[in-house]
Order: sequence, then C-alpha cells, then structure tokens
Amino acid sequence: MPDKRRFEGPSDLHLHSLHSDGTEPPAQVMAAAHAHGLRTAALTDHDTTSGWAEAAEATASLGMTFIPGMELSAKYQSRSVHVLAYLLDPDDAGLRAMTDRIRSSRVERARRMSDLIARDFDLDWDDIVAQTSDGATVGRPHIADALVAKGHVRDRTEAFSQILSPHGDYYVSLYAPDPVLAVQLVVGAGGVPIIAHPAGRAGLLPTRLMERMFAAGLAGFEIGHRENLEAGVRTLLRISKERDLIVTGSSDYHGLGKPNQPGEYTTSDDMVARIIDRATGTAPFYP
Ligand code: AMP
Ligand code: FE
Ligand code: FE
Ligand code: ZN
Repeated sequence: MPDKRRFEGPSDLHLHSLHSDGTEPPAQVMAAAHAHGLRTAALTDHDTTSGWAEAAEATASLGMTFIPGMELSAKYQSRSVHVLAYLLDPDDAGLRAMTDRIRSSRVERARRMSDLIARDFDLDWDDIVAQTSDGATVGRPHIADALVAKGHVRDRTEAFSQILSPHGDYYVSLYAPDPVLAVQLVVGAGGVPIIAHPAGRAGLLPTRLMERMFAAGLAGFEIGHRENLEAGVRTLLRISKERDLIVTGSSDYHGLGKPNQPGEYTTSDDMVARIIDRATGTAPFYP
C-alpha cells in the first residue's frame, strides 16, 4: 500500500494564480501560502490546469505538499455555480473538451461585455488583453483591472458592485455546464468534486439539484469560506453529517485581486486524507 498520508497540515485547498484571475504566478502563490504557515496547498484556477507544473516545482523546493486542482465553472438556471475538483487527470478528454469550450466562451463573452461597456466608457478590448496573462482563463476580474487602469473605478470590488454586476447593463453570461454534468465530468477524470462557497449570498442550491449532484458523485462542500453565510452553513453541516460528506475550508486567495489571505480558512488533515483516498486521477506532489 502506498503511504497516502505523507502530507502535513495546515492545508489550504483553494488558491488562484495568473493562470486565471489571481494576480501572481503559481510559484508566488505557493510562496505566499508558505509564508502564511501552510504545509499543504492546492492551486484551483478557473477552468484550467496550466499552472500545476510551476506550482508543483515551487512546493517541492518549499517542502510543502501540492494538491493539484481546478475550479470548474457551472451554471444552474442563470446562476453561476463553482465546482472545485481535486486530483483530477489533467489529460482526461471529456473534461478537457469542456474546459476548452468554457474558456472560448469566456473570451467571446469578455469581448461582448467590453463592446457594451465601450458604449459608455473609454475602454477597448486591447485594454482587457493587456490585463490578462498569456493563455489565462479570462473573466470579469480582468475587465475590472482594465477599468481600474483606465481610472473608471478604484478597485475590483467597486467594478463588481457597479459596471460588472450581473444586474447591470453590461453583463453577458458565459457558457457553463449544468452542475450535475460538471460533477460527472470531474468524477470521470478521477477527481474529487466539492461545491465551492456553497452558502453565499445567492442562497443554497435547491435540494433536488443537490440530490442529483450527490447521485453523480459530489463529495462534499467548502464549508469554511468567507462568503458563506451562517444559516446556510448550519444546513449544509447537517447534510454533511447525515451523508458523511467531505467538508473543507479554504481562502480562495486571488493575490491582490481580493482581500482573502492564504490560510484564513483551512481543511482538517482527516478531510485532506479523504480527498487523497478518493481520487484516482493524479497523485499529490509530496515534498
Ligand atoms: P466570471 O467568472 O468571469 O463571471 O467572474 C467571476 C470571478 O470574479 C470569481 O471567480 C471571483 O473570483 C471574482 N470576483 C467576484 N466578485 C468579486 C469582487 N467583488 N472582487 C473581486 N473579485 C471578484
Ligand atoms: Fe476567481
Ligand atoms: Fe469561486
Ligand atoms: Zn475561487
């Protein structure tokens, strides 16, 4: 039997880099995690695994364990749902086809939002490209950074509360799979699917949708997250107990893009071990 418990806590399983909407390269993200006292960290960029190699190299030299991950975009009705996927096979054809499709839809969508915004503000597509690293998964945060660079808003937070709000005049939605399909694809790639920030302001997902996600292999909930609200957390903890689910806690660090700091929420060693035991797609990178 391979020793599956060679990692040490504390563990933060949700961090973003320049490969999506974080503001730092993967090595710097892992260095920030290390500086905050973490011994195990995951990289979970939106809809891409392209940052894994750099993160794994960095954690190796920092003496940390690296858990490769991804935050897969999904959509229920018009509401965005994020599914964290851990230890998935990055070469799985089904999941790759889906992330390719989501990422190209994201480019189209960012272009359409930029055209709408350009009607009222001085901004063009090149300003957004200038804020996006080569090959990164583009999103509203990059449009926000372009709006900041042009002096239209102070920071990402202000951009999201005004110009980029889903209720505003400039919002365009992106293509993303149904949450049940998202879970199926993660499981098909040998990964462990966990709903990210499941008790945020939008409220819990409907019970019958969660039932279908469990039937597809949903493993648990990200219970520790600054956007979760207490009432929802109570309900999800009850469900987690009843179903013996995996529960995690993580920062959702985005570098300078959000106030979230590495290690502000962590995941227990027992839960990290359960994720490792359940995954068949990729092994963790041990120090
Ligand atoms: P998108 O997927 O392109 O619609 O953009 C959503 C992303 O924007 C999420 O992954 C968050 O990381 C980020 N985001 C959402 N709200 C804010 C905010 N108020 N400030 C900074 N980033 C945000
Ligand atoms: Fe993000
Ligand atoms: Fe998210
Ligand atoms: Zn995230």
